[in-house]
This record gives sequence, C-alpha cells and structure tokens, in this order.
Amino acid sequence: MIQSLNRRKSDLAKAEKQLEILSHGPFAEGELPTFQQKIATSGQFPLRPKSLEILQINVGYMCNQVCKHCHVDAGPDRKEIMTRETMSQCLEVLKSTSAHTLDLTGGAPEMNPDFRWFVEEASKIGVQDFIVRSNLTILRSNKKYHDLPEFFKKHKIHVVSSMPHWTKGKTDSQRGNGVFEQSIEALKSLNEVGYGKVGTDLKLDLVYNPSGAFLPGDQAALEADFKKALSEDFGIEFNNLFALANLPISRFLDYLIASDNYEEYMYTLVEAYNPATVANVMCTNTLSVSWDGYLYDCDFNQMLHLPVKSSIKHISDYQEGLLQDRDIAISQHCYGCTAGAGSSCQGSVS
Ligand code: SF4
Ligand code: SF4
Repeated sequence: MIQSLNRRKSDLAKAEKQLEILSHGPFAEGELPTFQQKIATSGQFPLRPKSLEILQINVGYMCNQVCKHCHVDAGPDRKEIMTRETMSQCLEVLKSTSAHTLDLTGGAPEMNPDFRWFVEEASKIGVQDFIVRSNLTILRSNKKYHDLPEFFKKHKIHVVSSMPHWTKGKTDSQRGNGVFEQSIEALKSLNEVGYGKVGTDLKLDLVYNPSGAFLPGDQAALEADFKKALSEDFGIEFNNLFALANLPISRFLDYLIASDNYEEYMYTLVEAYNPATVANVMCTNTLSVSWDGYLYDCDFNQMLHLPVKSSIKHISDYQEGLLQDRDIAISQHCYGCTAGAGSSCQGSVS
C-alpha cells in the first residue's frame, strides 16, 4: 500500500515535470507556437468532443515488457490494476453508452487477474467492436496465456497488436531481446485459429510506431511492406496496419531529452502540423478510463494526469450528456496527434 502510494506520488511529480517541459521546455517565449494557438488559427479552439464512439479502458499498467517508447511507463514492476469493482462500474456504463467500441488496453491487459471475467461480462452486454490491445509476447510468455487465441476467438475479440518492425533487430532494439521471436510465434498462434485470415471475421491488426525521433512513413506503404515481409518470411497474415507517431510524453520524452533530440522532435511535429487532422483526433470520439476509474480525454492525457474538464470525473458518476459537453484538455504533446497524416489508436486520421 505504502509502495503504491509512493509510486503514485512519484508519477504525479513526473507528470507535472513533463507538463512543465512541454509547456515551457528549452524554447524561448514564442519560439514554438502553442498547440492552442495553432488550432485557434483554423477556428478549432476550444477542441470539443463529437459523439462518443469508443470507450477505452486501461485495466492496469503491469506489463511483461519494458519498451523504450512506452507512453504508459508500463512494466513488470507496475502494480496498478483495475479492480473487479471498477470493472463492474465500467460494465454498467457499457449498458447505456452510445459508444459502439470497447477498447481494452494496459500495460498488458491480459495480466489483470480479472481480465477474462471482464471480457466475458462485456461480451454478454454486446458491443459492435470489442478490441483488446495485446503486445503479442504475453500470449507466449507463460503457459497460462497459451489458450488466449481460442478465448479471443470465442468472444469475437478484435486483436490489435504492436509490432514495430518485420525484422528482429529493429523490433528487439525497441521492445527488448527475444520480443521478435515471441511475437512471431504469437502471430502464428493467432493465424492458426483464424485471426487475420481471408474468409474469417476475426480481425488482427498491427500497430507500427517509429523506433526513434522521427515520424512514421506512409501507412499504406508500411502496411504493404509488413504484409510482404511477414508473409514471405513466416507465412503470417494480418488485416490492417496502423502507423502511429510517438507522442513526446512519458518514457519517450525521457528518451528524447536523454538523447538530445527533444527540441528537434518538437520542431518536426510542429512543422508537420496538419490542420485537417484536428477534427478527427482520438479525443473527439473517445473517452479513456484509467485503472482506478478516472476519466480522461485520451490515454496520453491519462499519463500526464490531465483529467477531463468536467464535473464528472469518475466512471462511478458517469453521465454521458454532461461529459460530452466539455472542452478537451490540450498541451504541446497534442502535436503528436496532428503531424502529417495524424495519429490515433486507429492509425492515421486524415
Ligand atoms: S509499449 Fe506496450 S508492450 Fe511495451 S511496455 Fe508499454 S504497454 Fe508494455
Ligand atoms: S493527445 Fe489526447 S487530447 Fe491531445 S490531441 Fe491527442 S488525443 Fe487529443
């Protein structure tokens, strides 16, 4: 208990420090336009939600991996786990929300001890699109997870998995030694039960994000390259590839600062600002629920401890009408969502 309180305190202090860097950073006053100023030039400030389509629930920060770019700062040492009580509150909301998509994320969501219970209960309520974000290696990490492909199939889960590259070197350098081989094994086990295969409705999508301080290339071209390489080298099939930019927060911001890339990366994001993406950034149709039930405009704001600007702060007090009538909390990290073709959990947004 004392340990987790200490962790929370240090997380809050870290988030505060990161927001300070993002807001003021090493730049002189006026050197970089604020995100607020940028979106105001096209009349899009304040940023407001449209109708709610996606409820994204973070069931805990525990993960079997410690990836360099992780915006959750997840790892095996994280003890924050959504309880069954908070899950039940989420299920109550699911029964009445206008959201058609339920999106479970983490950490590795499968490591929450109540993960299967939650999936079963949510499936009974019935959602159009039920996403689980799996890091793949968890499916092969321990025998107790080996049956998950069958479990996902039974509940018609849409599996979305991170896969930074089709080569071992680039994948392992971002996500850790051995990740590539385990990911390939996991993809094969998903293909075996029908995921990603033509003629089934079992969707398997991959998520690519760059390994360093640069923006992702064209999503369609990357998808074609991934499909060709994974099919030729391993006989693996999947449906779509989402290319995401790394947002300058959490572990990736630490990396940018430590590698002296922060200023250049912020310039890159600002120069690549694309006003056409603003109307479709993730926070305009998504609501993010943290492991302890608090509500955020997106997973990134959750990590920066930037709560929703609403009198409704917690899933137990959920009132969709009131919640949707709010301004979205923004800061300089939002440039990560509007660079180039834009970036969201569902890939490009323009
Ligand atoms: S990026 Fe995903 S797989 Fe990697 S540590 Fe973070 S939550 Fe885990
Ligand atoms: S970081 Fe979050 S709040 Fe900012 S634009 Fe992206 S989705 Fe919206």
